[in-house]
Amino acid sequence: MAETALCRYPCPNCNTDLEQEGYMIIETHDEAPTRQLLNDEINMAQCHECNHTSRLNIPLLYHDSHQELFIIYVPELAHLGPEQLADTIRYPYGQLVTQEAERRGIELPEPDAAAFPEGQEELRTQPGAKFHALTQEQAGNLLPEYLLRPTIVDTFEVLRTAVQAALDGMTGQEVVDDMVRLQLINNIISAEDPIARRKVMHHAEPYLTDELYEVIDTLGDQMRSEGQNELVEKLQWVKDQIEKYKSAQKQRLAKSKNKPANE
Ligand SMILES: [Zn+2]
Repeated sequence: MAETALCRYPCPNCNTDLEQEGYMIIETHDEAPTRQLLNDEINMAQCHECNHTSRLNIPLLYHDSHQELFIIYVPELAHLGPEQLADTIRYPYGQLVTQEAERRGIELPEPDAAAFPEGQEELRTQPGAKFHALTQEQAGNLLPEYLLRPTIVDTFEVLRTAVQAALDGMTGQEVVDDMVRLQLINNIISAEDPIARRKVMHHAEPYLTDELYEVIDTLGDQMRSEGQNELVEKLQWVKDQIEKYKSAQKQRLAKSKNKPANE
């Protein structure tokens, strides 16, 4: 079942204090919020002072039990350390896994007192307490692996595309592979300068394959049908950048091969 939370935050444009309910967990069978997500309308809020529209700055967990897809959208992920990230998603994550365990008839053991040390006792009453009290080994033995390794993304468009792909019949693993490619495309676009861009491609060299081009083409078709011509051009530009990088790599390789050994 979808879960919402009341979100209090300052308007990013005029700083007015705002309050709005937003989704934190969406399951595939939650039709209305899933549709909102696909339409890019989920968790949008409008400021009553300046009319500025923005997406609520809260994590959004999407879960497809059938395709075993579990994605967590975390806005401004880059600014969070590992502990802050864990704190940010802790509550909905525990809740989601606990619900799924129940659905699958998996019984989680009662947490013992030691699991919640002094100062953290209130966590004991949270819906995810049993899950968070598990050791890594217990969790690994009891729960399906995909629940323990959610894919965390900070780009809403990536989440949206992944959800659509799962609804179109792709398995969670296939979706995750594609998401790595989408994230890569995004990183190529948003790299600050040519050197940063080259680094991005260098780190992702195993992904610079025909499958990546397929994803770019699919995305391009989708953007074209939505009339987002600027993005279509951007994607073509990404392809050109990859081609450039690959041919430069090839030349470098050829050069180093032709180099006499004593040089
Ligand atoms: Zn405002």
